[in-house]
Amino acid sequence: MMSLSYFKPAGKAVFKDRFTTKANELLTDWEPGMTSDFGIVGVPLSKSSISHSGAAFAPEAIRSVLQSYTTFSGSTNTEFRQPILDFGDIYMNPTDITENQLRAYEGMLSALQTEAATWWVILGGDHSISYSAIKAFQEHYGKTGIIQFDAHHDLRNMEDGGPTNGTPFRRLLEDRIIDGKHLVQIGIRDFTNAKEYLKYAKEQNVTVYTMEDVGRLSVISLLEKELARLADQVDIIYLSVDMDVLDQAFAPGCPAIGPGGMDSKTLLEGISFAAKHNKVQAMDIVEIDPTMDFRNMTSRLAAYILFQFMLQKINCGS
Ligand code: CA
Repeated sequence: MMSLSYFKPAGKAVFKDRFTTKANELLTDWEPGMTSDFGIVGVPLSKSSISHSGAAFAPEAIRSVLQSYTTFSGSTNTEFRQPILDFGDIYMNPTDITENQLRAYEGMLSALQTEAATWWVILGGDHSISYSAIKAFQEHYGKTGIIQFDAHHDLRNMEDGGPTNGTPFRRLLEDRIIDGKHLVQIGIRDFTNAKEYLKYAKEQNVTVYTMEDVGRLSVISLLEKELARLADQVDIIYLSVDMDVLDQAFAPGCPAIGPGGMDSKTLLEGISFAAKHNKVQAMDIVEIDPTMDFRNMTSRLAAYILFQFMLQKINCGS
């Protein structure tokens, strides 16, 4: 006789034994009054991208691949149990980029004002969403320092293209939301940026580490130095992780793929090290286009980064 117990809900994983908890099971739709260590917010905006991008699909793709992971870290003997409060995705207008960036700012700020979570992760979207998110963090928490993992400066001028994924940090500087000496760029690549933007970065006292610097100094040593410097000057530190800081071999789903980038182990080491710092309050992960990804490699890496960030946070406390 047929049994309805044979059915599993559509879209849910795959085989699971009774000892295994899948990472996606920790995602909990936020409702008023709920609190936890972690909150996540999706910002599905990529029409602001200079190049063709389906990064608007990334928040759902990253949530979905969490079912590929368990909740246990053997290296630290940590079993995640705390719910990850999922605020969902911010609604996007189909055509109005400026309106959407305003919504992203207002939505992020309203999420922060719930005080529901201690630490926050923002899932983009293209890199333009970092302008909106950082503006909200600065307003809510105070002076904000940025560690930006990126192949590009993202310091293009607004006059030539408006508020695209090439301009978020220029806008943050010009709108005086952040100070140039509180912006640290790591992983900037050759033949990927115009000379003018490095010149602008220097004029603004932005700290720039190229991939050559990362290879020579190691990501840990430069983060150690910059986190200590920022910690004396800012109220919180925000990690902005553009996945195109990675070499194309590790992040095939980025719209701006290229050689000469970071390997995923180096990026994970850097994020884990930074996350241990008590002033690191938030992280965004941007620039994944799941429609161009290969076997969800880039989204899987994003999900792994998310859990490594959280692992360090719960093991190091606030
Ligand atoms: Ca970028």
